[in-house]
Amino acid sequence: MNIAIITIGDELLSGDTVNTNATWICAQLTNCGASASLVLVIPDVIDEIVSAIHECQLKYDAIIITGGLGPTHDDITLEGVSKAVGQPLEPHEEVIKWIENHPRYQNRKLSPGTMDLPLGSTMIPNTVGVAPGAIVTTNNKVSLYILPGVPSEMKAMFEQISHNFSGPIKTRIFVFTKIGESRLVPHFDYLLDNFDVTIGSYPQKGGVKIRIEGVNTTQVEQAVSWLTAQIPTSE
Ligand code: ATP
Ligand code: MG
Repeated sequence: MNIAIITIGDELLSGDTVNTNATWICAQLTNCGASASLVLVIPDVIDEIVSAIHECQLKYDAIIITGGLGPTHDDITLEGVSKAVGQPLEPHEEVIKWIENHPRYQNRKLSPGTMDLPLGSTMIPNTVGVAPGAIVTTNNKVSLYILPGVPSEMKAMFEQISHNFSGPIKTRIFVFTKIGESRLVPHFDYLLDNFDVTIGSYPQKGGVKIRIEGVNTTQVEQAVSWLTAQIPTSE
């Protein structure tokens, strides 16, 4: 399953907030066997949300979007989604029921729009805050998962939808070596020609971190054994 992640927020583009949501979701998808194939970072601008969704729905099996769902002026995620899928934002029955039965929110005066979702959505309850997430189908019949920007809320909601993301689980083994990347090239060529694996090579302080990955665990282990017999490795 190839998945696009769209993260919305001016604060991400200005560098004020580190986009930990994108990295966290990528790691979860990897654990599920699905692939994060694209991560977009876009500003709090409705038309940018619309174009991002329209582009992504042509290429990916699902779209995960994170951004403001609350009542502040810059929380335009739902408006953007509503415009992109051509469904009006309306008070949503599941959300109304959920709020009415919620011990913390049932007697509070909530900001206008708190119970609105694009028509035809399924609510994802927010177990940490108030604004709910949603699942909606795009014009191209691609599922779009709408999650909040607040990391703790986003994570709690992701747990409720993670069963939708699947694929062959890969075995990944990391090897660290102090020898230079250019000297590793022939070894990588040999690995790619002789084992059913993919290789990642990440130079870092003091050496190179090598990722050997594949669906066939035996092949990955054999590739690692071959490589570690050729080069000095360290922790
Ligand atoms: P609220 O209703 O409180 O505005 P929200 O669901 O509308 O919440 P946002 O406005 O997008 O969410 O963001 C709330 C907080 O989460 C901000 O502090 C923001 O910097 C942070 N945040 C947003 N996006 C990300 C991200 N991709 N990674 C990490 N933190 C993020
Ligand atoms: Mg906000």
